[in-house]
Amino acid sequence: AKKSRRGSFVFFSAEMGSDIRERVRLLQSLRSAVESERLFIVYQPQVDLVSGAVTGMEALIRWRNEDGTFVPPDRFIPLAEASGMIVAIGDWVLRMACHELVRLQGMGLGEVRMSVNVSQIQFRHPEFLEKLNSALLDTRISPSCLELEITESVAMEDAEFMLETLHGVRQLGISIAIDDFGTGYSSLSQLRQLPIDRLKIDRAFVSELGGDVLGGHIASMVIELGRNLQLKVIAEGIETPEQAARLKDLGCHEGQGYFYAKPMTSSLLKEWLLARGA
Ligand code: C2E
Ligand code: CA
Ligand code: CA
Ligand code: CA
Repeated sequence: AKKSRRGSFVFFSAEMGSDIRERVRLLQSLRSAVESERLFIVYQPQVDLVSGAVTGMEALIRWRNEDGTFVPPDRFIPLAEASGMIVAIGDWVLRMACHELVRLQGMGLGEVRMSVNVSQIQFRHPEFLEKLNSALLDTRISPSCLELEITESVAMEDAEFMLETLHGVRQLGISIAIDDFGTGYSSLSQLRQLPIDRLKIDRAFVSELGGDVLGGHIASMVIELGRNLQLKVIAEGIETPEQAARLKDLGCHEGQGYFYAKPMTSSLLKEWLLARGA
């Protein structure tokens, strides 16, 4: 802190000031990106590790600037959360993803699942369940085809309130996956109380699964944990055939990653699915 001319303290350095300016600028351009519809959604397939069949897909948001450059979600989601904009953005993603699922099922795709990421700010919003229900009613998707991905830390915090909301989601017929699993500190006893369907092994633990037998302790622990709690397990960030094979051998049910497909726009996804004969 340095002393300002009037004697009061200014608690930020020039460096922090420029960081704040940068965030304000990014927030302003996020607002205008929302207004001018420069946000869109890409979809990444999820496959059954044994049969290779497509079981579902994850909706991932993208922001493309006028100059064609992309702002990664890891940069703007935290900002959207801090400003509360995530509530509207998240609702939009949910609806778009539901519409996409209706279109895909119209192609004769059958029982595929759409996974949608839900931020904790969204999840804690008092109208979350209402919004969820109205998205179901408006798009008429079958709730059993919708899955919400929430992070481990969200599921563990504030047990009472979270439990209520999680049960509400389940009552709508929607399933729940714990995203980035293994990065938090949930205990077995906490986990078994949660009304959830799936654990999603974080990419960090999948990337440890190399050729050698030593890596991948956490991945195999999560799979074992899933087996004991009768939860499905999906691994994200699978990049190599070796990783896919190891995960399959360990008993992991599903996988997602560049090895199968990158996240794709709606039209590319359709081509990809048709080419696969899905
Ligand atoms: P996440 O939910 O853990 O999503 C997985 C991320 O890994 C995605 O990054 C995906 O594109 C990337 N990925 C998939 N396969 C591979 C692979 O084989 N290798 C590598 N290196 N990466 C892979 P993305 O799309 O940049 O999203 C980053 C994070 O932003 C997401 O992490 C999620 O936390 C958040 N996010 C994205 N879309 C939304 C959204 O609609 N709502 C909310 N609340 N968060 C979102
Ligand atoms: Ca996710
Ligand atoms: Ca992750
Ligand atoms: Ca994440």
